[in-house]
Amino acid sequence: MRRTSVAMTVAIEEALVRRLIREDGQEDVCLATYRPSTGLSRFSALIRAVVPPEPGERLIHGNATVTADYILRGAEAAQEDKCGLVLLHSHPGASHWQTMSAPDRDCEASYANLVREVTGLPLVGMTLATADRSWSARLWDVGVGRAVDCTHSTNVRVIGGKFAVTWNDAVQLPPQPSIRQTRTINAWGDRKQADLVRRRVLVVGAGSVGLDVFVRLAATGLCNLTVMDYDFVEAHNLDRLIGAERRDARLRRPKIHVARREAMRAATAARCNIEVSDRSICEPEGLRLALDHDLIFSCVDRPWPRAVLNSLAYSDLIPVIDGGIAIDTFDGGEMRNATWRSHVVRPGRPCMSCNRQLDPGLVVLERQGLLDDSAYIQIAGESFRSVNPNVAPLSVNVAASILAQYVSFNVAPAGFGEPGPLQYSLSTHHLEHRHDSTSPHCATEAAEGVGDQRVCLTGLHKDAERKRQLSDSVGARVRLLRLIDDRIDGVTTWLNLLGD
Ligand SMILES: [Zn+2]
Repeated sequence: MRRTSVAMTVAIEEALVRRLIREDGQEDVCLATYRPSTGLSRFSALIRAVVPPEPGERLIHGNATVTADYILRGAEAAQEDKCGLVLLHSHPGASHWQTMSAPDRDCEASYANLVREVTGLPLVGMTLATADRSWSARLWDVGVGRAVDCTHSTNVRVIGGKFAVTWNDAVQLPPQPSIRQTRTINAWGDRKQADLVRRRVLVVGAGSVGLDVFVRLAATGLCNLTVMDYDFVEAHNLDRLIGAERRDARLRRPKIHVARREAMRAATAARCNIEVSDRSICEPEGLRLALDHDLIFSCVDRPWPRAVLNSLAYSDLIPVIDGGIAIDTFDGGEMRNATWRSHVVRPGRPCMSCNRQLDPGLVVLERQGLLDDSAYIQIAGESFRSVNPNVAPLSVNVAASILAQYVSFNVAPAGFGEPGPLQYSLSTHHLEHRHDSTSPHCATEAAEGVGDQRVCLTGLHKDAERKRQLSDSVGARVRLLRLIDDRIDGVTTWLNLLGD
């Protein structure tokens, strides 16, 4: 069965909370609209706007009753905005994910057909547990013979300066803490650990930064990790790709092969589900896979993939933690400075383009295949260099910086969430909090929560196709050596799992 989830910005959440938490302590009810965001294996409802009740459209009597008139008006408003409908109510004084009472179930089920007919989309039901602001959600769809089907969501995600997730323990059990994670749990407690390790995280780019980040997430105990990269290991990567070995370059191993191997060795969860994808995020399949995740790390330096990630952080409400490094040299080749930066790309913060971490002009050049054309670059006078200097002792700082953003955003030490964009200058060892603001006409940020109606930035990615082909087109000798290498890996994995 397909997984389902609900996501909203903290601004929408606050508007809903104001409607649902009453001063007199009684239950209340309201409607909202949502846009679908459809991944390969997950359907997400992205809440878009509140549809407040008009006088007489709901009855408060300890419990709350919604009228058919309100549902019909809400469904028509949703349909006009190409949205689905959400029916929300509160459970005063309750905490954690809520199960449904028989009257709640009957009420939501009774409107599923009507809402499906008017909006063309399933009705989403939600409950707010007011004591700890936990959300729960389910999807009511209409099956064969107009029978109503209820699918309980896996989680509800609220995206602000802190990333709050409520989990449905019945759909995704909290994993048992392991002795291997004792020091980690001592840092933020077992409840936070049970929350963190269930978040589905994607790392885009398995280069010097992405590989390091991916392995550390596995060591932290995360249970559902995906890494995406279409490139393979070459000899010139080995001075920065810590974990990759000479044999990986000789056997032309995909970078995701190395990432999986190293993450499997580092993983501390009893069951760590590691998925790999040789797609590019710029290809439609890569984007659809990304939409299955709760959080994404952007560890790529090319403009096109960064543009896709920048867009989906807003359109699909999946926060993207991004970072990079630039090393400057003097004309003679000596080092001048190194600057690395990190930031969380999410609604409420300026996008990569507004904070000048992405040049839309270069995206067009890359899509046209002109970014690697040295003759064109020389004529156009572009500053992008396809081969940037980078060194292992410094790339670890980028990984450290984006992982620190990850901890602040997800754990919020002392109540502080992510710090905003940070930039570190090596020559003076100065850490700067950057204060860029949104440009008045930013289309990326304006497309917040549009989901499947996002602007299409994906397409045919010739470089990804070429790299996959090169990695596949190896001779019989390399194939045999890969088999032997896989057997050795198999033994190592078996030894690691022995006694578990
Ligand atoms: Zn922007």
